[in-house]
Amino acid sequence: MLWGMLGAIAPDLDLFYYYTIDVYKTPHHTYLTHFPIFWLILILISIVWLRLSNSQSPAFAFIFALNGLIHLILDTLTGNVFWLAPFLSTPFSFVSLDLEYNSWKLNYFTHWAFIFELFIIWWAIFLRLKRN
Ligand SMILES: [Zn+2]
Repeated sequence: MLWGMLGAIAPDLDLFYYYTIDVYKTPHHTYLTHFPIFWLILILISIVWLRLSNSQSPAFAFIFALNGLIHLILDTLTGNVFWLAPFLSTPFSFVSLDLEYNSWKLNYFTHWAFIFELFIIWWAIFLRLKRN
């Protein structure tokens, strides 16, 4: 559970770099941690490690990397993900990113994808409370 949750948030750790060092210059979805190939390579490495090892560590690595990839699938619901990077820099999104308002916050919070994100959080809380 811990490694899955860490993997699910790991791609967005690049926001620290985005806010502090890059200072909003480059969209964080163009960083390596938001390239699907990065997570696919980690998944492949963990599978090879799983085959060669008798310990639980490669399974944790696999769960971590798999959830990093799931993060990108969910990011594609709400924004651009460069699925073919670094080979092609064509962004892909499941939603139209046409902006209705001048404020990104208004665009984000009034979009149906935000309600979908809230649903995922509510569902997780529901499942957690149901377990107790
Ligand atoms: Zn992300």
